[in-house]
Amino acid sequence: MPQQRPHNMGAGGTCICPKCDYHGAHRNGVPCQDDHCPNCGAKLLREGSYHDQLLQQKRQH
Ligand SMILES: [Zn+2]
Repeated sequence: MPQQRPHNMGAGGTCICPKCDYHGAHRNGVPCQDDHCPNCGAKLLREGSYHDQLLQQKRQH
């Protein structure tokens, strides 16, 4: 069972930048990984995804 996040992910969800922590609304039909950060140009991650969880774990340790 997936863990619930404290904030509401909603239907669209959120794309985040692993480099500069940019948060943007996920665009329907466009995977976050195919979108790029408007600040630094890095590939975005879907918030709550497997890769996002890895990132959070790295930051905690
Ligand atoms: Zn960025």
